[in-house]
Amino acid sequence: MVEHERSKVTLPQQHAILDPSRINICVRKRPLFQKEAQKGQIDWVSCTNPAILVHKWKYKVDGITKYVDNLGFEFDNTFSESETSASLYYCSIQPQIDFLFDGGIVTCFAYGQTGSGKTFTMEGVQKLAVSDFFAGAQIMREETGQNFTFTVSYYEIYNGKIFDLLDNHKQKKVQEDKNGWIQIPGLKEVQARSEEEMIQLIEYGLSERKT
Ligand code: ADP
Ligand code: MG
Repeated sequence: MVEHERSKVTLPQQHAILDPSRINICVRKRPLFQKEAQKGQIDWVSCTNPAILVHKWKYKVDGITKYVDNLGFEFDNTFSESETSASLYYCSIQPQIDFLFDGGIVTCFAYGQTGSGKTFTMEGVQKLAVSDFFAGAQIMREETGQNFTFTVSYYEIYNGKIFDLLDNHKQKKVQEDKNGWIQIPGLKEVQARSEEEMIQLIEYGLSERKT
């Protein structure tokens, strides 16, 4: 029944290049794992940019006959299980990078239940982002003579506490400063002088995470 509904889904539109001046929300669908399919689990989400459709089965009023209802949800961009992390990066994250060199702040937040693909996606986009940071800095240096330094900090929130992944897992405190900004005093910031150094720091932090 789900496959029948899926066959009616309209073709995806091209991904939008997202406007960095506002909050953008994207959805990425991961493929159903073989072990999930073996357990009889059903893939009941279709992705057709910029929407996803949830093919949800329901009972008719007789309480016996099943049917599938299609619930549509629209976002800024949606990415199907066959699309790459690079495609997600180029449409949804790269357009924000220039903003950094104008003194802006860019935040990329991955949200979803365990096993939904947050780490997979972040690892995929990090390498591309790092490369654009250093390429951007090079251009700024040549065009405006400005120099940029890059530092990395990496912490995890575990049981409501903050642990510094670049400082031997030391616990750090979260505090609010007099301007109402959230700060983590003493959080280690390590300078990355090259693309390779930044990737190494990220990989080191990742390896320090509790799993
Ligand atoms: P999370 O960090 O949200 O808990 P993970 O990123 O660890 O989830 O993903 C769970 C598993 O699913 C991993 O084995 C990962 O490799 C796989 N996975 C996630 N997203 C995809 C994808 N888009 N394509 C293929 N495998 C994926
Ligand atoms: Mg994860």
